[in-house]
Amino acid sequence: MAEPQEKGQMLPEDVGSDDCLTSYTHIYSPDLLKDQVAFITGGGSGIGLRIAEIFMRHGCDTVIASRNLDKLKEAAQKLCAATGRRCLPLCIDVRQPESITAAVDETLKELGRIDILVNNAAGNFLCPASALSFNAFKTVMEIDTMGTFNTSKVVYEKWFQSHGGNIVNISATLGYKGQALQVHAGSAKAANDAMTKHLAVEWGPSGVRVNTMAPGPISGTEGFRRLGGPRGEAAGAFHSIPLQRAGNKTEMAHSVLFLASRASSYVTGAILVADGGAWLTSPNDVSMLLGYWSAEKKRDK
Ligand code: NAP
Repeated sequence: MAEPQEKGQMLPEDVGSDDCLTSYTHIYSPDLLKDQVAFITGGGSGIGLRIAEIFMRHGCDTVIASRNLDKLKEAAQKLCAATGRRCLPLCIDVRQPESITAAVDETLKELGRIDILVNNAAGNFLCPASALSFNAFKTVMEIDTMGTFNTSKVVYEKWFQSHGGNIVNISATLGYKGQALQVHAGSAKAANDAMTKHLAVEWGPSGVRVNTMAPGPISGTEGFRRLGGPRGEAAGAFHSIPLQRAGNKTEMAHSVLFLASRASSYVTGAILVADGGAWLTSPNDVSMLLGYWSAEKKRDK
């Protein structure tokens, strides 16, 4: 059963924790990704985990890959139990190309193919530019931007170049207006949005589509918690969003499913913003956000 309608919008089911859905209503054909294989970075938590689940509910086997193998193993067990498909948990650090190469080799050995790559791994936190260390900026660039390039290049060279495939990058809208306290993630994701277009141009002739999905504030995620989502929601801040609410993880997974599947067969180099219109109207008031940041820092101490 889908969740109740919210002012005429039928929302898909979601759960706020890193667990699988207790019920699911298909919007797309259940065999849309039948017998395909998806490699999802950061697939052990948050939006990435839900993408893995929704893909598996459409007939796909998955690899979920990130640094914490225990977390990945637990997630893979839940995903297999909920969907009856295979899920391979593999340890990678997207900053280390050799770890990606080993994981892609293992994927091809175990599952025989890769049809979809989702570049979802990222790191983020709020910090004013003046307080951001050189190393913190570099780390976010390395995970979000270099990580996306590294993983795309390995998967392309080992499989997509000769078989075609679909890449979906998970971005953000932070750079559109220069969101305060987010120069690191905003810059990294803006570079990825450009990379989406560059790779779409260069790899299209090999049958590779490259697209991006940019979420807004998404409930039940680490990003949402770290960036002040729950407090903002409680304070009524989301009423300024045109759709007047945060998005949910299943909604993000449905957007990614569209881009990763034959439903979007003539779409490449595109950026699908799935944010309820948030970036058009969201506040970008530096002193207000700096006040919030200082209060959170004091609470952390
Ligand atoms: P999340 O649960 O923290 O997911 C990030 C994942 O990336 C984690 O599973 C983490 O796993 C993995 N990761 C981090 N560093 C890595 C590295 N060096 N190598 C490999 N994997 C690494 O966050 P989320 O909120 O669901 O975010 C998912 C994506 O959506 C991100 O790209 C984020 O920028 C984007 N996004 C989220 C929101 C939101 O509201 N949540 C809004 C806009 C955009 P390990 O710790 O095991 O490595």
